[in-house]
Amino acid sequence: MTPPKFLADEMNGDIARWLRIIGFDCLYFTGDDLDNKLLEIAEKENRILLTSDRELYQRAIRRYIGAIYTSGENTETKLKKIFNILNLNTYVNRLKYRCPICNTVLVQRESKGLDLPPHVKNNHKTVYVCERCGKVYWKGSHWTKIRDTFRKLGVDI
Ligand SMILES: [Zn+2]
Repeated sequence: MTPPKFLADEMNGDIARWLRIIGFDCLYFTGDDLDNKLLEIAEKENRILLTSDRELYQRAIRRYIGAIYTSGENTETKLKKIFNILNLNTYVNRLKYRCPICNTVLVQRESKGLDLPPHVKNNHKTVYVCERCGKVYWKGSHWTKIRDTFRKLGVDI
């Protein structure tokens, strides 16, 4: 089964980052008057629209575009809702991590030879590199926090 792809509106940047970290493809746009553009992209690329705008949500549904309404909730509640509705649990751990900043699939690299602080090289044999924006990620204390948050949602990563 192909994992669902997403498109987050301005209010769901937090969700975009969380979904990308565990490997879901999630576009994220900010700016004014994006509603028509968002609907167009969601329709064309078969992406599920994550929106906190009720009117936009209803417009999507009327056009048979998959959409999830996420207003007035905190990040964890929003994630939980999305996971439950789409049963995302079944895809997790089969996906390659993506860069939370730019949505690019991360490449696993040996830390040796990369320009990283010594403590990172000492503690992490491999790191994850975004070849698009250049960011490097490793499973440090931040990762523990991410894992704990997902664990609370019943998701083991
Ligand atoms: Zn990146």
